[in-house]
Amino acid sequence: TGQTGGVPDVDIDAPEAWNTETGDSSVVVGVVDTGIDYNHEDLAENIWTNPGEIPGNGIDDDNNGYVDDIHGWDFAYDDNDPMDGHGHGTHVAGTIGAVGDNGIGIAGVNWDVQIMALKFLGADGSGTTSDAIEAIRYAVDNGARILNMSFGGTSASQTLEAAMQYAWDAGAVMVCAAGNDGTHQVHYPGAYDPYCVAVAATDHDDVRAGFSNVGPEVDLAAPGVAVFSATRYLNEWQETHRFIYGTANGTSASTAYVSGLAALVLSQDPSLTSDELVDRIKFTADPVLTDPALGEDERLGTGRINALRALTEPPACVLLVDAVTVADADGRLSPGETADLL
Ligand code: CA
Ligand code: CA
Repeated sequence: TGQTGGVPDVDIDAPEAWNTETGDSSVVVGVVDTGIDYNHEDLAENIWTNPGEIPGNGIDDDNNGYVDDIHGWDFAYDDNDPMDGHGHGTHVAGTIGAVGDNGIGIAGVNWDVQIMALKFLGADGSGTTSDAIEAIRYAVDNGARILNMSFGGTSASQTLEAAMQYAWDAGAVMVCAAGNDGTHQVHYPGAYDPYCVAVAATDHDDVRAGFSNVGPEVDLAAPGVAVFSATRYLNEWQETHRFIYGTANGTSASTAYVSGLAALVLSQDPSLTSDELVDRIKFTADPVLTDPALGEDERLGTGRINALRALTEPPACVLLVDAVTVADADGRLSPGETADLL
């Protein structure tokens, strides 16, 4: 409805999509982030539980190298408790899969899904590349098909790229944030093509959010301003006031919408390959205008995701070209003449 003063219907058409598909607990989404409040009232039901592990017996029952890894792992502090110490990961998880139609809180893009908590960022929101790599490998080796990676930086890492290649080869779809510098700054891991889908943020007018990075590495966009989702209380005041929902801005939030949609499409058709899944989301997006303030005519990838179209339309073939050169024998194209695309 454009409820915050924006343009009506520049959303992802989630309610319309939910007439077709609301998600499935067979789909596992790994959230590589600050952890998740896995006890949250609107998330607990949709948190992944390791089927091969017996909680709290001090034994690595499924022999995966991690003792008592019930809901994921804490790679930041090397323990089995991926509780969110920051709030960021819980917010992302809520957008992907807060329980739907349960009469409380919010609904995620998926009403039903399994979210694996892969904590590698500490309470200050920072972490190491080596822990991120371990988290990615754990996620893929333990059944996550979609990886939400709402983190990044400006320096490249060959070892991180190699881990993403490992995950891609294993059939995982990785979704990464384009970055919040508001510039053309290239952000990693979002720029590691073809291993991940890089996501920019739109606002309620369906244009680039001012903070969102943009550039040729951006594949898609999704809403990223004033996104209302789950969070967790971190101090006494918040606990007293049961502060467990809140709004956030950022390409992180946008990334969560795209991961959520990837899971929703996969729950409708589990036979899709990673390429097919990414194409389905990319080429059913609604075109959006680039913020003219940026001074360049540059797309936000193929546009802002549309969940209804992703579920119901075959992906259109889109030709993305920077320039087309046409020529015939005399070097000019006259009316009625045809020429080949070069
Ligand atoms: Ca284990
Ligand atoms: Ca709910």
